Amino acid sequence: MRKILKNILALVILGILIFVFQDEIGSSFSVLRNKYLPCRSPIAYSLGTFDERFGVSKEKFLESLALAEGVWEKEIDKNLFKYSENGNLKINLIYDSRQEATEKLDILGDELDFDRVEYNKLKGEYEALYTLYLKDKKVFEARLGAFEARKSEFEKNVAYWNQKGGAPQNEYEKIKEEEKWLNGEVAKLNNLQNDLNQKVDEVNSLAKSLNELAGYLNLNVAKYNEIGGSHGEEFEEGVYERDADGERINIYQFESKEKLMRVLAHEFGHALGLDHVEDSQAIMYRLNNGVNQKLTEADISALSERCNL
Ligand SMILES: [Zn+2]
Repeated sequence: MRKILKNILALVILGILIFVFQDEIGSSFSVLRNKYLPCRSPIAYSLGTFDERFGVSKEKFLESLALAEGVWEKEIDKNLFKYSENGNLKINLIYDSRQEATEKLDILGDELDFDRVEYNKLKGEYEALYTLYLKDKKVFEARLGAFEARKSEFEKNVAYWNQKGGAPQNEYEKIKEEEKWLNGEVAKLNNLQNDLNQKVDEVNSLAKSLNELAGYLNLNVAKYNEIGGSHGEEFEEGVYERDADGERINIYQFESKEKLMRVLAHEFGHALGLDHVEDSQAIMYRLNNGVNQKLTEADISALSERCNL
């Protein structure tokens, strides 16, 4: 009887212990199960920290998680993950300098697009003005040529009559008339020349602005590439961690819905126990470079090996 009582007491104590530590036991059990019996039962995940500054709602974020889940599940037709309000795998959305940089890059990109539009507009104006200048110049040169031919004809005529000792009245009047026309034409040609010079100045100043804008644009392109370049290599978009406190996926940055889905799928892959693969388009490549929204051959073979398929 005493023995039975003792056993009941032990059971009660064990019961209390299990009740008190059920969270820990549950999480270490799931960690162990995942380690030794991978892919057997779905990994339960839930939302942890959720920073609103990303501008994504919980509903949309859960949709992305469901898509990321599907990336793995549809290949082997198995339930590998499931959302559960108290799921051990916590998914955290953490806002810090990484997402800030992503947003800066986005704004800089928009500015670049705007500057490019401005540049192209100015370039259009420059080209139109330059074309107009060339046309006017051609007209001017033709008119100058005609003037010079007529002037030289006039001078020959004057020399002829001078040689003769003077021109008859009607010829003299013709010469005077021609002289008047020539003087008038010189004045008009001078005005045209001034207009042309003004156009040259405008074309030149526009070319100067255009070059300045191009320089500025190149500078910003360089700046964009610099931030963009470090983006892929050094910035961490997300991480999967497993320690004494449990399992978690932290997401630090994403620039689009598609990229978010890929980083979630990638970290889910780590949660399944997968390592990185070499294929740069793969979900399990170390960088989120690819655009494909499904597994590549490299991912599939890593999954098959892990799940003993
Ligand atoms: Zn990774």
